[in-house]
Amino acid sequence: MKSKEELYEKYIKPSLSDARRRSNKDTEYTYFSLNPTTKTIGKGKYYYIETYGCQGNEADSETMAGILEAIGFKKASKIEESDIIILNTCAIRENAENRAWGELGRLKSFKRNNPDLIIGFAGCMPQEEKTIKRLLEKYPHIDIVFGTHNIDKLPIYVEEAMFNKERVIEVYSKEGGIVDRLPKSRNHQYKAWVNIMFGCDEFCTYCIVPYTRGKERSRKKEDIIEEVKKLVNDGYQEITLLGQNVNAYGKDIKNSDYTFGDLLNDLAKTKIPRIRFTTSHPHDLDQKTMDAIQNNDNVMPFFHLPVQSGSNTILKKMNRHYTREEYIDVVKRLKEAVPGISITTDIIVGFPNESEEDFQDTLSLVDECQFEGAFTFIFSPREGTPAATFDDSINPMIKKERLRILNKKINDLYLKGNKRFVNEIVLVLVDGPSKNDETILSGYTEHNKLVNFKGDAKMIGKIVEVRIVEARTWFLIGEQIEKN
Ligand code: SF4
Repeated sequence: MKSKEELYEKYIKPSLSDARRRSNKDTEYTYFSLNPTTKTIGKGKYYYIETYGCQGNEADSETMAGILEAIGFKKASKIEESDIIILNTCAIRENAENRAWGELGRLKSFKRNNPDLIIGFAGCMPQEEKTIKRLLEKYPHIDIVFGTHNIDKLPIYVEEAMFNKERVIEVYSKEGGIVDRLPKSRNHQYKAWVNIMFGCDEFCTYCIVPYTRGKERSRKKEDIIEEVKKLVNDGYQEITLLGQNVNAYGKDIKNSDYTFGDLLNDLAKTKIPRIRFTTSHPHDLDQKTMDAIQNNDNVMPFFHLPVQSGSNTILKKMNRHYTREEYIDVVKRLKEAVPGISITTDIIVGFPNESEEDFQDTLSLVDECQFEGAFTFIFSPREGTPAATFDDSINPMIKKERLRILNKKINDLYLKGNKRFVNEIVLVLVDGPSKNDETILSGYTEHNKLVNFKGDAKMIGKIVEVRIVEARTWFLIGEQIEKN
């Protein structure tokens, strides 16, 4: 009788030590191709994808959807109707993981009602050794498990699960290559995610991403420009360029000095009305990028620049590669290069042994930079990262109190940042009816401010002029400009 270990032998499982490795090897580029045997396996069947976490995962879910549609599946309007359900997971914080485990438990009854249902588990969680161990021990009803490096293999995995009733667990811990020209089924008609690079080499001590997403590797500029030109032809109004550290674009391509600023200039020439990008790292932000924002009207005057802490002691322990002084100087240069730019950030409070003085340094940096918003978090230890092993004697109640104090300050700055647009006429890309009131339209300005205003539904998907009449903490209230 084979032991569990022998049974599990056949599965390709993640390895943290492999995931840590970085070499100087060139990135391998390939193009997606569909295995002919899989072309119609999804005919008459429906798929449902649940996405957790960041924009990178949303973009990956659009790729999974594109691949499933390429093999015949259609999108289910509700989860109960689906023949395949994929959870595309996030490992950045504990609560994101707990929600996915909770959902996996809920899906057990779906499988009982429909034994042919295929359940897939993807994204960053499968890249963690502890996840695979728990899946193997406690979740026998999961059919397909794959990670961030092999989304393009989905047709084969579906075929395996569907016809051979074989469970597939295939997760690679590697630096990774790039599979380009993957099919996409986008969730939005006029705003699109465009990956420009994958992975991260920064190794911030609290972050699991370098282990789950591999090394920093840039897509070829030709493939990116071609994708954006197609989006322009299809009537898209806005693209958001995605990467863990977009400012490092091109730095991994040998014998090339083509970097992020050059890419912005080239994409601006496609005449796409709006270009946004996320996420940036201060130490790779160069003057060429700042100039590209200043010199191109269709590169939006909005910049998300995570700082994480204002204390040099904590920044060092986080391995962020810059000091508070250097960060403040980058913000100063950005505001000089692009007057009126809106800057937001990410901040972690309660990092192991963060002193009251460290926290005060964070508050004073926020005052100095005058951010117009921030995502704020309490430190969440991630197994496998260095910071998860750091001594920490700070009482959780103190961490909660620091988050409350920081959020109060950030909310005041949100409102202050919104107030500067009162009585101004702004350009809004209308997304649709506002969440809380069908008769009200909502959309974002060039500075990424949410605006609600009364308007005609014909405006949805268009960039329109709106006069701002009032500022609230989270959004602006506007009125439509009547065209003569
Ligand atoms: S820059 Fe740091 S925080 Fe951001 S993805 Fe990379 S390792 Fe994580």
